[in-house]
Amino acid sequence: MASEDRWFTESHVMFRREFRRFVETELAPHADAWEEEEIFPREVFTRMGELGYFGVRYPESMGGAGGDIWYTVVMCEEFPRSLTAGVPMAMMVQSDMATPIIGEIGTREQIEEFLMPALRGEKIAALGVSEPGAGSDVAGMKTVARKDGDDYVISGSKMWITNGTRADFITLAARTSESKHGGVSLFTFPTNTPGFSVSKKIKKMGNKCSDTAVLYFDECRIPKRYLLGEEGHGFMHIMTNFQGERLVGALMGVAGAQFALDNTIQYCKDREAFGRPLTGFQVTRHRMVDLQTEIEAARRLTYHAAELFQERGSGATKEISMAKLYAAEVAKRTADACVQMQGGMGYSDESFISRYFRDVRLLPIGGGASEIMREILSKLMGL
Ligand SMILES: Cc1cc2nc3c(=O)[nH]c(=O)nc-3n(C[C@H](O)[C@H](O)[C@H](O)COP(=O)(O)OP(=O)(O)OC[C@H]3O[C@@H](n4cnc5c(N)ncnc54)[C@H](O)[C@@H]3O)c2cc1C
Repeated sequence: MASEDRWFTESHVMFRREFRRFVETELAPHADAWEEEEIFPREVFTRMGELGYFGVRYPESMGGAGGDIWYTVVMCEEFPRSLTAGVPMAMMVQSDMATPIIGEIGTREQIEEFLMPALRGEKIAALGVSEPGAGSDVAGMKTVARKDGDDYVISGSKMWITNGTRADFITLAARTSESKHGGVSLFTFPTNTPGFSVSKKIKKMGNKCSDTAVLYFDECRIPKRYLLGEEGHGFMHIMTNFQGERLVGALMGVAGAQFALDNTIQYCKDREAFGRPLTGFQVTRHRMVDLQTEIEAARRLTYHAAELFQERGSGATKEISMAKLYAAEVAKRTADACVQMQGGMGYSDESFISRYFRDVRLLPIGGGASEIMREILSKLMGL
């Protein structure tokens, strides 16, 4: 469905055209091979950096283009044409999950050493928050950063870290005191620090070409200048950062669902049963209409959240949590219905839709599960 003009200027439209061409010509043709290999080449980061895609919303002083949220909306809407969810997830971790905090609270030195090379695609970034024993319960983390003279010494483990097997640095959360929320601090952590290792690459049901790792920190010594923001303020910054991450999750949810439905409509127009195309059955047409209506509702809610995010930054928690919750659940339902409508072909590894069905299952889990969105919203509703 066409997006409304009021959100997108001529410059967004041109950007969409260019970005679509990049996705269709430089990513999509390799989707099957990268999924099979369960990794994509490092050069994809370099290329995205060269073309300026990581920096669309960062200020020029940091090497970005100073654009608004609608450039990110365009990227999320065009990314499904890559025919994988793994590459878009890795790219959005680089630009919208691991790096925004550095731009917001990092020192000029941290911006130059970590953020700017990441936006140029020269350094791969990861976000290290989740742990084997702490996912939804972020403040339950156990990784410790102990002060020792002019250094911090980091020990512990991180789990589920996207880009983790080959990141050059991690925006890392670790505990600097026992206080549950006030004891979490953030660091820029170079992965060539002695004592750091990748314990395992996790095999997953979907997003296969994106690497996901368990990381181990054995007495890793880093200088104090790598502390990001103030000691003990990490939890608050993580929660603020989640707003951008969840908005991207919602946008990806809507865009992926739309792409999957469009793919299914085409399939059902071409495929015949009982002497007519599958779209000749009222039950199929009505199911498509219901899905399109839900996707449109999710899009409106997400655009509304994006607009508030642009105006207020992180002050749109209610709308972003609702958008993430609703878009993820709509995408999951859409995937299930699309597999059903495509029949055996929907179940075959040869079809795009079976990959989408596996990939989309992450959305109601990652970056704050649907249950956590409901918990946030029930608090905001005073329940
Ligand atoms: C492919 C992938 C990539 C990821 N990438 C990253 C990354 O780059 N960086 C990073 O830091 N993390 C990453 N994550 C981690 C992700 O954010 C967590 O998986 C997510 O926050 C859920 O945590 P958990 O897996 O530990 O589940 P748990 O916290 O163990 O939860 C399990 C289930 O219990 C439910 N639950 C938990 N608490 C409550 C509650 N209070 N009320 C009701 N239900 C509850 C949850 O909703 C969920 O359904 C990634 C995860 C995956 C799978």
